[in-house]
Amino acid sequence: YDKSLIVSFGEMLIDFVPTVSGVSLAEAPGFLKAPGGAPANVAIAVSRLGSKASFIGKLGDDEFGHMLADILKQNGVSGDGILFDQGARTALAFVTLRADGEREFMFYRNPSADMLLTPEELNLDLIRSAKVFHYGSISLIVEPCRSAHLKAMEVAKESGALLSYDPNLRLPLWPSADEARKQILSIWDKADIIKVSDVELEFLTGSNKIDDETAMKLWRPNLTLLLITLGEKGSMYYTKYFHGSVDAFHVNTVDTTGAGDSFVGALLCKIVEDPTILENESKLREVLKFANACGAITTTKKGAIPALPTEAEVLALING
Ligand code: ADP
Repeated sequence: YDKSLIVSFGEMLIDFVPTVSGVSLAEAPGFLKAPGGAPANVAIAVSRLGSKASFIGKLGDDEFGHMLADILKQNGVSGDGILFDQGARTALAFVTLRADGEREFMFYRNPSADMLLTPEELNLDLIRSAKVFHYGSISLIVEPCRSAHLKAMEVAKESGALLSYDPNLRLPLWPSADEARKQILSIWDKADIIKVSDVELEFLTGSNKIDDETAMKLWRPNLTLLLITLGEKGSMYYTKYFHGSVDAFHVNTVDTTGAGDSFVGALLCKIVEDPTILENESKLREVLKFANACGAITTTKKGAIPALPTEAEVLALING
């Protein structure tokens, strides 16, 4: 495998979103299929920006699984790491933002194919080819995919990849909030790069103040880069040598789904191109401006995958 790869590991699923906004799941007159899953979104974000990406994960050998595999392929993501489970079905989520502002979730995961990925099934050559190995936490929740997740991280690290982690907190999937916090933090210091949202920052630290003091609670000496994304307020960065923040772009936001994945994809592309950005503040600020622009563009269209930008679109926003 080509050594310039970004390999993204974890879940890919279909979100079913009501055709009208502001209703409960029970009231929805119908649903639209929105393919997603944070690690898959990141792989597609990378590919759309022109870099090589692979996705590792397990799908059901059913209509939905093949639809998702086709979406990866159509978007130029290598399918060498995709497996199909012969028994279980593809993961599905029904998601709505109700009129009262609360999100309501229902999952098809009993168990879904992604949860059944075993360590023995991993494509180790593909993992060893990664320059950057990216993962979320959903695959930490149950066995056997938890063991597969931990093994994949270990193999990637041993072969010299930078490890990139986005906890992608989806609390309803975890047995309890305490368990989620414990498991997420248990793999914290294995990563080189970590990106959290403001919501995750509060959840993991217990502090609702978004400032350096709170962010430093998530700092570990072996981390290379910690990022906190703040939606329309941009992003904050912390390294051993410097820290600061970069403003967001003003855009017409219609749906923020996938903004964080787009941001991460952009960042990882730039790190693969030039790893010295991790030690050079002015270069890093340029890269975060680019990543913020990617995130902003992703909020201007409905859904995650259809809204991920090309490099030309990002440069058009940056250059006004
Ligand atoms: P997540 O999806 O992980 O919660 P955010 O929503 O913070 O992540 O989005 C990631 C990045 O995308 C932000 O740091 C910001 O640069 C950009 N972004 C997100 N929402 C908006 C918005 N409403 N307007 C402009 N930029 C945005």
